[in-house]
Amino acid sequence: MQENASRSLPVIVITGTPGTGKTTHAQLLVQQSPIPLQHINVNELVKEKMLHDGFDEEWQTYVVDEDKVVDELEPLVSAGGGQILDWHTCDAFPERWIDLVVVLQCNHTQLWDRLEARGYPLKKIQENNEAEIMNVVLEEAREAYAEEIVVPLQSESTEDLESNVSRIVQWIEAWQKNQVLDSGS
Ligand code: ADP
Repeated sequence: MQENASRSLPVIVITGTPGTGKTTHAQLLVQQSPIPLQHINVNELVKEKMLHDGFDEEWQTYVVDEDKVVDELEPLVSAGGGQILDWHTCDAFPERWIDLVVVLQCNHTQLWDRLEARGYPLKKIQENNEAEIMNVVLEEAREAYAEEIVVPLQSESTEDLESNVSRIVQWIEAWQKNQVLDSGS
């Protein structure tokens, strides 16, 4: 585990291909967490704070300026942690920020249906579907962070959602106990 002693609250990344359930998980985690956590939907933040270089019509997506995203988040994370960073990519976040990286995964036919229901253009559905099949986000997470903090979780049903969130809550409780032990040593 990383040395993040300056933080009083953990910083948790919830990542995964679009449609795997990041926002749904983050919202439930905010409700069930034993400590206050702030859900940051990075896509929303990009739009709200204009952390992009315009809109790509072909892909129907903003061209994100990752440096601006990091600069925007730095003061929040440095002020003590306590964020859930909800984004479909994670390697832009400096390693020193992050205590846990949850990578949500979903059966690709189910993912296709979710993205279709969202009204994504076919090309974007295909691209995301392929990325899910190829485990692109998981590989990216494993390259960017220590192996022991990267946790892939299946997100295909309400039962998965509930058990994943309770698992993260247990992880938070363990993190808190470790902090107490560390501060006492
Ligand atoms: P993301 O934030 O990764 O793009 P969302 O949380 O917006 O994904 O979820 C996309 C859709 O899939 C929503 O309609 C949501 O209700 C559904 N969904 C997400 N996770 C699950 C799950 N574990 N079981 C059933 N439906 C889910």
